[in-house]
Amino acid sequence: MTTGASADSYDLVVVGTGSGGSAPASRCRAAGWRVAVVDDQPYGGTCALRGCDPKKVLVGAAGIVAWQEQMREHGVAGGATIDWPALMRFKRTFTDPVPPAKEAAFAKLGIDTLHGVARFVAEDRLVVGDRELAIRHAVIASGALPRPLGIPGEDLLTTSTQFLELAALPRRIAFVGAGYVSLEFAHIARRAGAEIVVLGRGKPLPHFDEEVVASLVAHSRAIGIDLRIDTEVTAVERIDSSGAFRVLAGSGQCTDAIEADLVVHGAGRVPNTARLDAERGHVRLDQQGAIDVNDFLQSPTNPRVYAAGDVALPPGSIPLTPVAGHEGQVVASNLLHGNHKRPDYRGIPSVVFTDPPLASVGLTERAAREAGHNARVESGDTTGWYSNRRVREPVGMFKTVIDADSDLVIGAHLLGVHAEEVINVFALAVRFGIPAKELQRMIYAYPTSGSDIPYML
Ligand SMILES: Cc1cc2nc3c(=O)[nH]c(=O)nc-3n(C[C@H](O)[C@H](O)[C@H](O)COP(=O)(O)OP(=O)(O)OC[C@H]3O[C@@H](n4cnc5c(N)ncnc54)[C@H](O)[C@@H]3O)c2cc1C
Repeated sequence: MTTGASADSYDLVVVGTGSGGSAPASRCRAAGWRVAVVDDQPYGGTCALRGCDPKKVLVGAAGIVAWQEQMREHGVAGGATIDWPALMRFKRTFTDPVPPAKEAAFAKLGIDTLHGVARFVAEDRLVVGDRELAIRHAVIASGALPRPLGIPGEDLLTTSTQFLELAALPRRIAFVGAGYVSLEFAHIARRAGAEIVVLGRGKPLPHFDEEVVASLVAHSRAIGIDLRIDTEVTAVERIDSSGAFRVLAGSGQCTDAIEADLVVHGAGRVPNTARLDAERGHVRLDQQGAIDVNDFLQSPTNPRVYAAGDVALPPGSIPLTPVAGHEGQVVASNLLHGNHKRPDYRGIPSVVFTDPPLASVGLTERAAREAGHNARVESGDTTGWYSNRRVREPVGMFKTVIDADSDLVIGAHLLGVHAEEVINVFALAVRFGIPAKELQRMIYAYPTSGSDIPYML
């Protein structure tokens, strides 16, 4: 299947070794293609090294502190505290082994592993360092990076990657943006004893159900997070000699100066395409800088190029690990067998790993009505339900959206203990069209948070 005799000719070059790039590389290699992968960071991608996995190790420890506080005087005595350096050492037992293991796994399959920034020099050529690679196909799975904010002092911000590497946790932390990364980190750092301010330009978590979000916002404030909404950060300054920062933020005419020892960028991520020289590869980008793709995740302007993961934003896609993995599988199939597979974005659950977590799948109530559904909405406060009361969880809420004509579950929005697991059952229902009546007839293990599901319908 090799297109040329030169050592630098490949059937496939994959840019990015994270969740989106892995399946195309390994499946095409298994089919006998000559394949190379390229990454300018250690192998493994954001999720395993700088995102989901290290984050959830910290979330787990923070959850113990929260639970201990909730149970104080209810059978649990003593205090749990976070030992940040020890927690970081534990976190590294997950992240450190990934790059060598990932690279060795590619090499074992016979995939060439390259290090450096890949960029197009022609529609069938990429350059990595001083190597020119002639390509029959390329898969761009180069992920995302923090959104440029265009404010003075932007370079003083700590990225999410740096936050997950902090040797010590500063006393006062300001988060710019009130998206899921800011809220998750804010909950972790608050449980570790830091003073937290979260500065959100608009409403927090705009893609989630607003009532459930309001409940999480109230709870976040109740545990001591100073969560401000409709607050725009306009500049970050270093305060002379102290090493601390001043964050200028406000709404309307009113500007506050907030002092912090660390200012974290949590204001969203954008597709990582700036260094690709996409134009020279005739790979069109959309207005957000994402790789423009057709229904088969292929560049319409350079059909030898496909994209998967956070770098492309086709309708329905969400920048999440399982979606990147699914898109990688679709791309692999289309490369190997021709354009037959389209990504299936039905029923993708998303979770905000705060304590308790907020989890969501499908349509919000508002979106369901706007889409013309005859929506039946069930909702309620679950704080008094056994699952929450058993662990003295101070907040809990659910909202389910059911199409009244078909009885299909079209949305579920949960806040509370194990919401991140229970949402998977709703995701199954949304993706595979399981009616609400069937979810109610299901026999759930008891007592589990899943056994609450019939009461949510
Ligand atoms: C803090 C944080 C927490 C997250 N938590 C979750 C979560 O809980 N659940 C979830 O589902 N998702 C989560 N995500 C999102 C998830 O990490 C991403 O959706 C997923 O990792 C995207 O995978 P990808 O393959 O598209 O890109 P990545 O895994 O980012 O891989 C892209 C790789 O390409 C490299 N690269 C970029 N440009 C070039 C170039 N020109 N040449 C060579 N290499 C290049 C990059 O350095 C990177 O290593 C989180 C993200 C962050 C930042």
